[in-house]
Amino acid sequence: MLPGVTTLREPLTRALGPKTGKALENALGMATVGDLLRHYPRRYYTRGELTDLSSLREGDHVTVLARIANVSLHPMPQGGPRMRGEVIITDDRAKLMLTFFFRNSGGQYKFRGLKPGLVGMFAGTVSSFRGRLQLIHPEYELLPGAPPNADLTPELADEFATELIPVYPATAKVSSWVIARSVKAILDPLDTGEDPLPAEIRERYGLYGQAEAIRAIHRPLDWEDRKRAVERLKWDEAFMLQAALAQRRMAAAALPAMPRPHVPDGIADEFDAQLPFTLTAGQVAVGETIANDLACAHPMHRLLQGEVGSGKTVIAIRAMLQVVDAGGQAALLAPTEVLAQQHYRSVTAMLGPLARRGQLGGADDATGVALLTGSVSAGARRAALSDVFTGDAGIVIGTHALLEERVQFADLGLVVIDEQHRFGVEQRDALRAKAADNRPHVLVMTATPIPRTVAMTVYGDLETSTLTELPAGRSAIATHVVPAADKPHFLERAWARVKEEVERGRQAYVVCPRIGDGPDSDAPDPDDRDPAYPDEDDFANMEPTTVDLSHGVPRTITNVGRRQPLSVLDVAATLDAGPLAGLRLGILHGRLHPDEKDRVMRAFSAGEIDVLVATTVIEVGVDVPNATVMVIMDAERFGVSQLHQLRGRVGRGAAPGLCLLVSEAPPASPARERLDAVAATLDGFQLSRLDLEQRREGDVLGAAQAGRHSSLRLLQLLKDEDLIGQARTEATAIVSADPDLARHPALRAAIEDLLGVQAEYLDKT
Ligand code: ADP
Ligand code: MG
Repeated sequence: MLPGVTTLREPLTRALGPKTGKALENALGMATVGDLLRHYPRRYYTRGELTDLSSLREGDHVTVLARIANVSLHPMPQGGPRMRGEVIITDDRAKLMLTFFFRNSGGQYKFRGLKPGLVGMFAGTVSSFRGRLQLIHPEYELLPGAPPNADLTPELADEFATELIPVYPATAKVSSWVIARSVKAILDPLDTGEDPLPAEIRERYGLYGQAEAIRAIHRPLDWEDRKRAVERLKWDEAFMLQAALAQRRMAAAALPAMPRPHVPDGIADEFDAQLPFTLTAGQVAVGETIANDLACAHPMHRLLQGEVGSGKTVIAIRAMLQVVDAGGQAALLAPTEVLAQQHYRSVTAMLGPLARRGQLGGADDATGVALLTGSVSAGARRAALSDVFTGDAGIVIGTHALLEERVQFADLGLVVIDEQHRFGVEQRDALRAKAADNRPHVLVMTATPIPRTVAMTVYGDLETSTLTELPAGRSAIATHVVPAADKPHFLERAWARVKEEVERGRQAYVVCPRIGDGPDSDAPDPDDRDPAYPDEDDFANMEPTTVDLSHGVPRTITNVGRRQPLSVLDVAATLDAGPLAGLRLGILHGRLHPDEKDRVMRAFSAGEIDVLVATTVIEVGVDVPNATVMVIMDAERFGVSQLHQLRGRVGRGAAPGLCLLVSEAPPASPARERLDAVAATLDGFQLSRLDLEQRREGDVLGAAQAGRHSSLRLLQLLKDEDLIGQARTEATAIVSADPDLARHPALRAAIEDLLGVQAEYLDKT
């Protein structure tokens, strides 16, 4: 240790010396003192957990409190420069041997300092040598305060007990012990400087100061001490993040945007007048909020959440029309080709004559709607690009083909991003950049319900609106688990149900986790697939497979034992040959040619296909109200939120929806319990919490958060909801009063430190 004061930003190589510093850096990626001090103990030992010496068994990993009884040095029997150091420790009931090997010429440092009478903690793996139990090269720590030959009395034990002994996440190269020692060495000379958390907040919530919290999480006096440390450090995580987000919200809100106020008697009003249904109260309220946002001279950044089928698209169309009326253009960005095409069809259908600018039968003030996806033919693309450029197309719908450089807008005023979870920040950014001087307004829509705290954290720079009700007349969706392995006849009944529905003029989906085998099984789809994204057909990347279809009845396809997930191609063939013979089956997956996909979707919408066997390509947005049944094969292969999304495709019309989750997962297995949970509730928010509980926080926050640089170490998005809410309120207040944090230099510096990596990520959001 170098003398003097240590600061959080100091390199570890300087604070601890090059050897230890480098070791920590290589093993755990730590560079500064701050990095080390944010490496928190995984758990703590208490006296009660220490192993009793008389109960040791070979192979145990143990930590014992004991007194050194005897120390001796022995040459090796075969001679040579190697030596063996032997230390006998005792807890007064039993004895244990510690063994150290080293060369005469040095390497005794591990062994030095061990003197009879001293008391310490010894940790290692128990082995045996000639019938005697031993620890070879144990980690140890001598109790500094214990007098020589101290009795191992209850009082002495208490002395250890009051200090919880930290156990750190460690690697083979750098043990918990080394980390604990390094931390200890740094804590003494540590000067944390000014506390970044403003004093009034610390007082209001009774929080530890920074220095005290850092000391207490590493060397807690007792559990209460450690609890208060954790609370304070959680505050740091929540507060710094929320302050950074508040700064970004304020900066974004200060950017110039062209106001696009409502124009009376424009196509927006005409559209409202011809709507075939009444807007729900929620749609009206959110619509007003958005209309007001659009009228502002600063860009809107709004997240619209709403259950599948809650009617988000109508809200988007109304917002787009307001912008078109005001002389601007609106872009609707969809994550897949299928969805873009469907949006195009439904937008043009809902607008009717209002979308037929310059065409026969078009309204006088009609606008144009352009579709731009990767598969639009060259001629159509040229025409669309020209309409986008001249402004003839007021509404432009597309996939990420919209982001290409040659797509130039006359006056882009609004960007609507549908099903946000499939888009990355880069894409959002690229589209935003297409508005020349002013920033466009941005509306992000998601049907994946996001728990409040996740919204506050992941989308913390967006304002949030939520549609909580479904339009009237929507029917409930009943969901059942079909245990294909233990009750095969249930599956036969499922197919019988599908047939019944079709006989009543309804349609059905059968969803499978995989496309199927074939030489190009891994070939990416040109448009629907986005390398940066969780793919619409994740399982298509698995090894090609053959499923035993020799029996030709559906029961057999679920009886193959440990097998590949079921595929669209195999299941369709089996159904066609057996249980659903005679029905009109269609196939849809990401590997089909885009024209073919479009053709299939049209045919299904038109009722020319009875049963659509598909991958999750239908997960988002597909809207065929006549479809009433969905059978999901190998349902345990899908995530909870994904299942919820999928079943949202049925029950969209007046007839009740039925979703059957077919699975071989045994009763009471975790997979089966997940499915039961999905079957038990239609509350997407509840299910998204379930989903979140099963993932790590880092996954939730996305790739930029993953890895050891994640700034969230202690904070748990679900459990710490209140704390995050408070931190957000406080941080917003501080930042509103002092946007550059000029009066809070320590806070500003801490945000930079803590969010260094994340800042890049946030910048792009
Ligand atoms: P989401 O995108 O939120 O999943 P959509 O906007 O696709 O939902 O709406 C689902 C269906 O409900 C569409 O067919 C739409 O026309 C219809 N719809 C939307 N709002 C209403 C309403 N207020 N009353 C009746 N039907 C509605
Ligand atoms: Mg939608």
